[in-house]
Amino acid sequence: MKMDRRSFNLSLVAAIGSTAIRPFNALALAQLPPQLQLRVNGPRIMNHLNSLAEFGKNPQGGVSRVAYSDADVSGRAYVMELMRAAKLDVHIDAAGNLIGRRAGSHATMPPLLFGSHIDTVPEGGNYDGVVGSLGAIEVAQTLAEHNVTTDHSLEVIIFQNEEGGLIGSRAIDGELTEKELDLVSRSGKTIREGIKFIGGDPNQIASVRRKRGDIAAYLELHIEQGGTLEAGKINIGIVEGIVGINWWDVSVEGFANHAGTTPMNQRQDALLASAKFIEAVNRIVTSVPGRQVGTVGRIQALPGAPNVIPGKVILSLELRDLDAAKIKMLYDRIYAEAQEIARTSKTRFDFKEINVNVPAPTDTRIRQLIDESAKELGLTTRLMPSGAGHDAQDMARLGPMGMIFVPSVGGISHSPREFSRPEDIANGANVLLHTLLKLDRANLN
Ligand SMILES: [Zn+2]
Repeated sequence: MKMDRRSFNLSLVAAIGSTAIRPFNALALAQLPPQLQLRVNGPRIMNHLNSLAEFGKNPQGGVSRVAYSDADVSGRAYVMELMRAAKLDVHIDAAGNLIGRRAGSHATMPPLLFGSHIDTVPEGGNYDGVVGSLGAIEVAQTLAEHNVTTDHSLEVIIFQNEEGGLIGSRAIDGELTEKELDLVSRSGKTIREGIKFIGGDPNQIASVRRKRGDIAAYLELHIEQGGTLEAGKINIGIVEGIVGINWWDVSVEGFANHAGTTPMNQRQDALLASAKFIEAVNRIVTSVPGRQVGTVGRIQALPGAPNVIPGKVILSLELRDLDAAKIKMLYDRIYAEAQEIARTSKTRFDFKEINVNVPAPTDTRIRQLIDESAKELGLTTRLMPSGAGHDAQDMARLGPMGMIFVPSVGGISHSPREFSRPEDIANGANVLLHTLLKLDRANLN
């Protein structure tokens, strides 16, 4: 990065006036080297956040800004205004992602990308995706106001339809298939129609594709969506990686028979076998140390009558961990135990793999830079997995990736009650700013 000392000193006065960072007083701040003194304008992020919350606002106090809805389009128009005000060169790519570019001094270097999403689940909150999106724009605006030119070009990216299956980031990865474009999204429009509706061009999707090495790195600020940071009174979460998610449908075959005339010792009760299976999943997943999780979240018993012994059950099995080998090990144990339950209950278990998301580890060097940035700001950090999926997992295929978490009050997300404190949001944006400046000077490739 470059900064001329005079313009910096002028802007410093504004920075101190507008932003209160807990660990520093103005005097201590002034003693830091110039680039370390940069601070985002926290209250401005909150103003933008409150304004964006008007688009798709619902009576419960949250927001329904589902991708490809009218609220999505007006929210995106507002965000593009903010990007232009931050002196970014804005365009909508063919997949419908919003990209704001800021030229660096070395045109041959690949760009540094950072951003998030502004679409929400139906009846969602005002923080998921929004904090990272508005935090990224604020970082760009702070750099513009302080006349900082980075070596790498910067691209603030607001991915479209994150909540409906990481559509925008998967288009950039080249993973979005023609068939998928015809699936109906939550807006009621197909993805193809939706992309057109928000200003993209579904016939040119291939043009947005990037390959490994096309980006210098990707950074994303996000709310934790869980309660770990708040409970531990930690300011910043450094994401170790986004967990892999494996999902199977399991069918349990027994024999449907009369609930009154079939003696207890002659039954092939698929629901009873399923109950044992559900208990086994929980026992096996918790039998080894670590933060892996396993869930049976859906169950259907057939024929589903009070006076019939259930002859068939369909249930889901989902396992998540940062380590794909651990998921495999747990699955093997669960599978073996299912066969044992089948033997003693005279039923049959069949597993059908429905979906696999491989784990996406973050870059260890970026973790280090996040940690250094946070420590310089006087903030505490904790290394932690992300149990939720993010666009960052797709960007990890293109280059080094890092994620910064800020606390979610009560660990609530995808709810109108989702909330993160303004000071935590400002802290997160400052960590994003300083990690980005460090990344600009580190050569990761
Ligand atoms: Zn999100």
